[in-house]
Amino acid sequence: MQSTARVVVIGGGVVGVSTLYHLARMGWSDVCLLERHELTSGSTWHAAGLLPLFNLSYSVGKLHQYSVDFYPTLEAETELNVGFSNVSNIRLATSQDRLDEYLYYAGVARTIGVEVNFLTPDQVREAWPLCETQNVLGAIQHPADGYIQPADLTQALAKGARNRGAKIYRNTVVNGITQKPNGEWIVSTDKGDITCEHVVSASGNFARQTGAMVGLDIPVVPVEHQYIVTEQHPAIMERRAKGLPEMGVLRESDASWYMREEAGGLLLGPYEVGAPACYLDGPAPNAEYELFPDALERLEPYILSAIERVPAFGEVGVKRVYNGAIAYTPDGSPIVGPAWGKKNFWLNEGHSFGITAAGGAGWQLANWIVEGEPSIDMMGVDPRRFGDYAGRGYLVEKNEEAYAKVFTVHYPDEEREAARPLRQTPCYDRMKKLGAVFGSVFGWERPNWFAPEGYELSEADLDKPDVILNHNHPDVDNEPVREKWSFRRSNYFDFVGAECRHVHEKVGLQDMSAFAKCEISGPGAESWLDGLLTNAVPKKVGRVSLSYLLTSRGGVRSEFTVYKMAPQRYYLVSAGAYERHDHDYLKKAMPTDGSVTFERLTTAMGVLVLAGPRSRDVLAKLTDANLSNEAFPWLTGKTISIGAAPVEALRVNFIGELGWEIHHPIETQNYIFDKLMAAGAEFDIKPFGIRAMVSMALEKSYKLIPRELSVEYSAYESGLDRFISLKKPGFHGKDALLAWKDKGLANAFVTMEVHDVTDADARGSEVILKGEDVVGRATSGGYGWRIGKSIALAMVNPAYAAEGTELEIVILGQRYRATVIADSPFDADNTALRA
Ligand SMILES: Cc1cc2nc3c(=O)[nH]c(=O)nc-3n(C[C@H](O)[C@H](O)[C@H](O)COP(=O)(O)OP(=O)(O)OC[C@H]3O[C@@H](n4cnc5c(N)ncnc54)[C@H](O)[C@@H]3O)c2cc1C
Repeated sequence: MQSTARVVVIGGGVVGVSTLYHLARMGWSDVCLLERHELTSGSTWHAAGLLPLFNLSYSVGKLHQYSVDFYPTLEAETELNVGFSNVSNIRLATSQDRLDEYLYYAGVARTIGVEVNFLTPDQVREAWPLCETQNVLGAIQHPADGYIQPADLTQALAKGARNRGAKIYRNTVVNGITQKPNGEWIVSTDKGDITCEHVVSASGNFARQTGAMVGLDIPVVPVEHQYIVTEQHPAIMERRAKGLPEMGVLRESDASWYMREEAGGLLLGPYEVGAPACYLDGPAPNAEYELFPDALERLEPYILSAIERVPAFGEVGVKRVYNGAIAYTPDGSPIVGPAWGKKNFWLNEGHSFGITAAGGAGWQLANWIVEGEPSIDMMGVDPRRFGDYAGRGYLVEKNEEAYAKVFTVHYPDEEREAARPLRQTPCYDRMKKLGAVFGSVFGWERPNWFAPEGYELSEADLDKPDVILNHNHPDVDNEPVREKWSFRRSNYFDFVGAECRHVHEKVGLQDMSAFAKCEISGPGAESWLDGLLTNAVPKKVGRVSLSYLLTSRGGVRSEFTVYKMAPQRYYLVSAGAYERHDHDYLKKAMPTDGSVTFERLTTAMGVLVLAGPRSRDVLAKLTDANLSNEAFPWLTGKTISIGAAPVEALRVNFIGELGWEIHHPIETQNYIFDKLMAAGAEFDIKPFGIRAMVSMALEKSYKLIPRELSVEYSAYESGLDRFISLKKPGFHGKDALLAWKDKGLANAFVTMEVHDVTDADARGSEVILKGEDVVGRATSGGYGWRIGKSIALAMVNPAYAAEGTELEIVILGQRYRATVIADSPFDADNTALRA
């Protein structure tokens, strides 16, 4: 075995081998793969081989699309047949919400470039004559979809990789990984050590054990997944004898199962509620081609529903049941990208649709390793989207939930229940008492909106269709149901409107403690931050600026509020959901000479947002600080006292009203909360939530990662011009950004008014049309209560970005007139913010 390599890939399942293949294809031939037994002997060999294109995540959708396009090309390259059956995939809808999901998905698919057809029940029967179509409202079909032979695919990828110089060592167990002071890695195996520049962990169900070798708590815990293969059925054999095409993959989404033909019989794969997490301590050292005993009793309702839909399934005996471990993460998407805190250690783990995702995940990870960046937005699969809170107990609860909800309707406002309420800020109970309906981000509980006292939905309000998956509202023991999820305006719509109007007319209080926070300090802090971020770093104590971290290509990676709180001390605030991501980039980019220090403050500091025209009046009652515009202008901060509590008050907010973000030691939160509520009583202070904030941010055309801001869009395309300082000597990504601009920008950020919407606002991912041409995609959308308009933010072809341009947007299958309007339709001059 070789003793050095540029990259060592651990794991010879389809994912590891695809990563190896793509590294070699990008010209890195000094790469090798280590597999403890035989290729595919982990999870890959027993997969059903389906390649579903359907995915509401832009990142995952793109990875799947790449795979389905790429796999059929392997045969010509390697002369090995990958067993790709392009039989198409039909997903049934038996409820209006399910149809809405498909209509929404059609926008995602069209913007990614995936072909989707809508079928009537008759067309379903034509394609799948053994399928009964009672209660079917419609279906979607992916013509490019199908299934593949996972082992053949892996072997073809392996041959392609070897042909390009890569080496594969089978029966070689990795038992230790260490990093040398110079950054090189040593991968130790039972056959000797390999010193390398990069390590890729693609170890499937062993992910947590591989992670433990380098001190990483990898958020992957597998769940049991079963599928059943029947004996041959005469009707299918007859179809075969007649040379009729295979009926394709059938998915009964509302009953949570898939079915396809298999060797003249049928294969049924349910995603059942109650499937247990497994391999909590990893598979046994000698595990190989491992299956668990079947647990058919769990599948009973799904089998009955399958027989009802496809009676032929009940007419033949079961030939074999496969019950294997399927790797899961808390949100069901894989983790592909850099490991946090470890330079040149990469993860390609947590794949629950690994046969489908392997091609794309290998392609993008190879790009990331070789080029330093992925070429598509990978935020949806970034390993750093989870934090330390995602430990073993959390993973068991969340991953079982993610598995059980593979087929639930993925409402944009869905808030899942498992492992909650985990991270509570001190004012959680106070907010709850005030009617907070919570959502969760990065494990934190955050009020989404506030329901009036005693408000709850009845069974009739919930209007649930009679299907196995009835999940259109949060289901928490001993809690009333107060919201119903939807793709359309739902029951909370007017309550959110009332919150927006209240903040606009009076004053509101919001808990934003989930923000990611850190302090960057030291003699080198200012020059380092200046050379890293796009905007000029504040030079005067008390100044606040908004600044961006770009990719080396000039796309946008992170957004930071930068506050100079003292000489050589900067306080950085960024999105709560990206704490690990943002902090990892900062820490990895820091100079190693000790001139700059990083301190995480996320859980040390709470944030209460006081906003609205009366916010100054409220605060004035509690502090002797001069709050006048002259003494405390917009985009400045100060240490002030609120009663006896010292706080950092920043005159910024995300909603476009007069107001302060009050950053405080977390243990003083309730003291401050009570003071503000008491002082605000005479001004009718009320709490407001995330949904009101999002609506008001839309009216200000504020941009979000990874929507309007993404590694795929240049910072200029996203309209960040005024946050980019070309005066300073440089910042990370500057040359590439300017080169991108010179080459020409393919997209332009616009704000649009959507006309005649009565029921469903844009959500992001909708197609923007000029005539029949797709000229852009919506990135966010919703209703603006202060301007009384339905709005969408979008990235469009620059030819259609001028104010007044008339376009159309497709929302849930309906075309609406959409006019490009000036950015910040509410208070374009920032009069309220500067008041
Ligand atoms: C019943 C079932 C049906 C499925 N059906 C589908 C489907 O239809 N479509 C789909 O897309 N997906 C399906 N999946 C999921 C799919 O099987 C996985 O997502 C995929 O196989 C993951 O591939 P992988 O390479 O990540 O992991 P694996 O195939 O498990 O490969 C990981 C490899 O790493 C090796 N390894 C681990 N630790 C070490 C070490 N220390 N040293 C050396 N080697 C090591 C292991 O031996 C293993 O071979 C199914 C899964 C199950 C259980």
